[in-house]
Amino acid sequence: MARDTGPRIAIGVDPEGRLPLPWLAPALARSAALAGAHALLIHGPAGVGHLEFSLLLAQAALCEATGAATAGRPCGRCASCHLVAQRSHPDLRLVLPAALRVQLEWTEDDDYLAPKGEAKPSREIRVDQIRMAIDWSQQTSGRGRGKVLLLHPADAMNGPSANALLKTLEEPPGAMRLLLTSADPERLLPTVRSRCQRLQLDLPAPAEALAWLQAQGLDDAAPLLAAAGGSPLEALAWAQEGLSATWLAALPRRVAAGDAVPLVGRALPRVIELLLKLAHDAQVLAAGGQPRFFTAGQVPAAADLIALRDWQRALLRAARHDEHPWNAGLLVESLVTQAAAVWPRKPAQPAARGGASLHSDA
Ligand SMILES: [Zn+2]
Repeated sequence: MARDTGPRIAIGVDPEGRLPLPWLAPALARSAALAGAHALLIHGPAGVGHLEFSLLLAQAALCEATGAATAGRPCGRCASCHLVAQRSHPDLRLVLPAALRVQLEWTEDDDYLAPKGEAKPSREIRVDQIRMAIDWSQQTSGRGRGKVLLLHPADAMNGPSANALLKTLEEPPGAMRLLLTSADPERLLPTVRSRCQRLQLDLPAPAEALAWLQAQGLDDAAPLLAAAGGSPLEALAWAQEGLSATWLAALPRRVAAGDAVPLVGRALPRVIELLLKLAHDAQVLAAGGQPRFFTAGQVPAAADLIALRDWQRALLRAARHDEHPWNAGLLVESLVTQAAAVWPRKPAQPAARGGASLHSDA
């Protein structure tokens, strides 16, 4: 099933029984052994498809076909599977941070989207959302096959939210399953982690990821896939933002030259992510290793290690505050200016024989 352009996500298997993301099949098969777990923590690297996978599990748990859910697979055809795919199953509740709810256009229950006096939708799962979900969990199941409460990502719960959930997590009412997702389980309260059984998702092998990206209409995806840390979903999102292999290949040298133009106007979290990856690769390269996100030929050598360390600190500071940039454009300019100090310009070389200029504006 192709992902639409934009932020929509594919939900559940289609009527032919195809998975929305093919690399989720092995984990789905393993999930059958955990069907009795009341609370499941679904974890794995960012961009692996935590939400898509959890929705598959929810669909499987609520599937009404007899003898269905073979190897954990929902049938995709019964009324319940259809309701899950339509985002309208009465026994499935998805709790998302308001900001993500807006991004995914998951707009039911918008009564708590933006509480009064708040300028922007929250990136946290708030305690009132948890309380409403607990109230919901105590009502009778609409279709009589239990309920599924899905928290995505569970590490977006703040302290009060996590504490409000603990009792329900320990003793879910009736036949309710709790599904929690996290790309970084260490960020969860230990008391939350310890009450869940775990199921790990893995990124597909590069060949499988590239085949999938090609099926989405993306050619020359290998550089995007590498820069996205191996996540095909991320690589696709980058392509949809207009990032190309050529653009990525040129980025390190432009940043090293203090040129912020390629980055200005792009979403700040994405810019910071790219610069952090470049800084990572510069550090690995300086230590004699192979870059991970860019290729060795793209990352300028001979970084000044002290300036690099300062730059990384500035980037991490910016990453912590990317919700409240005082001025995103100026911040990007300043971060790129600082990058130029990491790769100080060498004194001009004598002109090549024949006087041909090697200077490039690319
Ligand atoms: Zn079904």
